[in-house]
Amino acid sequence: MSTKVAVVTGSNKGIGFAIVRALCKQFQGDVYLTSRDVGRGQAAVESLASEGLKPLFHQLDINDLNSIVTAAAFFKEKYGGVDVLINNAAIAFKVADTTPFATQAEVTMKTNFFATRDMLTHFMPLIKAGGRVVNVSSFVGSRTLNNCSPELQQRFRSEDLTEDELVGLMQRFVEKAKKDEHKQDGWPETAYGVSKTGLTTLSMILARRLSKERPNDGILLNACCPGWVRTDMAGQKAPKSPDEGAVTPVYLALLPAGATEPHGRFVSEKEVQLW
Ligand code: NDP
Repeated sequence: MSTKVAVVTGSNKGIGFAIVRALCKQFQGDVYLTSRDVGRGQAAVESLASEGLKPLFHQLDINDLNSIVTAAAFFKEKYGGVDVLINNAAIAFKVADTTPFATQAEVTMKTNFFATRDMLTHFMPLIKAGGRVVNVSSFVGSRTLNNCSPELQQRFRSEDLTEDELVGLMQRFVEKAKKDEHKQDGWPETAYGVSKTGLTTLSMILARRLSKERPNDGILLNACCPGWVRTDMAGQKAPKSPDEGAVTPVYLALLPAGATEPHGRFVSEKEVQLW
């Protein structure tokens, strides 16, 4: 039987790093710690090696299409595909950051929604039968959805929403933010929140597509929230350690063979949440 492989984006620190640590202990196969910066990635690999763990490394900057395509080709060539993909990489401006909202909207959406979608576009065809895909989203995405206009909420929750229409909605948010018209257009004042609303919704769309196009492959794809976790992104006041934040993403990544659910859900504390 060929060696199984798990890939985690943005895993040189924070929750992604803790996910790699947990997978090294629990996943029967090769685990790839990936990082946009080779130096930071290799330092992280060495840090886990000093704990007796053996992650492998591949460079991966999700904002760089070349980097995505190169990594996808590597996993296809070496493993014939990917068994577990965890899209964890993301950014967030600090609350005190004075960067104009229009810029925050464009930059945040670029990584958290559009670049993560690029990862999914290039890696979904590689996901093997029985594979697991986990998109690390946030409870902030659910809160943001509830603060959108009724029209937007109806579209995000609609089962007939297409990927193209979702991309259009995300572009519309950025365009309206640039004209300072996003509030009149029904969006709350949070670029990070909208990016995560988009990512959770994209997860549901892609899961429906998998069920339709690869019904016999048993692939499960979900979005999740890790909880509020002490990292550079969330600060040191958060209640959970990174290892605790890794629990739900790792649970979804390791759903047992033959499981049929959860699929296309938003999961927090290992429980399916209302959307
Ligand atoms: P950190 O800021 O600690 O880590 C983010 C990671 O993503 C870093 O490794 C960073 O790399 C990487 N990254 C950022 N941009 C890119 C890119 N373009 N390509 C590749 N990697 C990139 O954040 P957390 O660990 O807290 O967050 C991990 C995930 O959990 C995110 O999706 C976040 O939104 C989500 N989340 C976190 C919560 C929390 O309380 N911490 C709560 C809810 C959700 P680099 O070191 O190079 O910057």
